[in-house]
Amino acid sequence: MQHIISITEKMERNIMDIKLEPFGKIPTEHMFTAEYKNGEWQNAQVTPFHNLTLSPLTLCLHYGQTVFEGMKAFLMNDGNISVFRLDKHYDRFSKSLHRMCMPKVPNELFTNAIKQLVKIETKWIPSSPDGSLYIRPFMIATESRIGVKVSEEYLFIIVCSPAYQYYSKALKVKLETTYVRASLGGTGTVKCGGNYGGAFFPTQLANDQGYDQVLWTDSQHHGFIEESGTMNVMFFIDNVLMTPELSGTILDGVTRDSVLTIAKEKDINISEKQINYHELIHSFENGKHIEAFGVGTAAGVAPIEVIGIGLKEYKCYIEKDAMMFQLQKALYDINRGLVFDVHHWNSII
Ligand SMILES: *Cc1c(COP(=O)(O)O)cnc(C)c1O
Repeated sequence: MQHIISITEKMERNIMDIKLEPFGKIPTEHMFTAEYKNGEWQNAQVTPFHNLTLSPLTLCLHYGQTVFEGMKAFLMNDGNISVFRLDKHYDRFSKSLHRMCMPKVPNELFTNAIKQLVKIETKWIPSSPDGSLYIRPFMIATESRIGVKVSEEYLFIIVCSPAYQYYSKALKVKLETTYVRASLGGTGTVKCGGNYGGAFFPTQLANDQGYDQVLWTDSQHHGFIEESGTMNVMFFIDNVLMTPELSGTILDGVTRDSVLTIAKEKDINISEKQINYHELIHSFENGKHIEAFGVGTAAGVAPIEVIGIGLKEYKCYIEKDAMMFQLQKALYDINRGLVFDVHHWNSII
């Protein structure tokens, strides 16, 4: 299906203004909502963007029974709109909901809601090479009751926001060996709001020391690298693409999976196993070629320039010919329909 993108002069100006705003600050004009009551989903509708009215007793406000997703729609080279890896995001959303005792959203409801909303918001998808529409489906527990329990009522909401490059320059990350993001058996593998609340304080400490993000280590040994902020993390060392295995505390990132798949097709050697930071220091001290980068929907492939470990800072390779930029470009080409979509990752709407 071909869609003609007609952006009025006024709208174009609005989108340009949004570029100056922080990520996720400006919503598009519409939103989707559906209510879960008496054991079923009802009142599914797209409405103008509006504030919610909730009782102060609402469960999610107290006990964090919330789940979210983050995905993107892209304006492709041929003028079509594509939502990237809709199915994989749906699967993860379902997994997160299960872990948080929240009701399943039928695939059809989820998929149709996203397609319908994105279609309505087509004009808000920036056409610039770094532009996309960030889509945030989420669910909150809405039963009005302050007693600790699993809610019997929920709201499933989808909002969108025009997005541009998330990080304007290569990142400085600080290896975190005091605080933890997630521990085995916890909720680190799912996308729930509670994972973030506890991450703010250590992140703020890292920010105060001039770092953009923390690089989390495992909760048992503080030795194995996990992930960074809202991104999974990868290294390219000695011609091997390395990323921590999905150990039970790391989020199963869609971008992580996409980049690994692309790398395999490029015949790059891949290692998915635990990465001890002492090994990393050893590689730095032996003068090896080390690239480090974050991978996530919001940030894409985000180069890491400096890793702070203890009192030392280690510099990573970020020149233009780095492997990570080839992977970034390959992902970009798929997103924009510049190459054949062999994996059926693009849902054209
Ligand atoms: C969302 C998220 C990621 C990245 O996942 P993508 O599916 O690639 O966007 C990585 N780590 C955490 C903690 C996240 O919440």
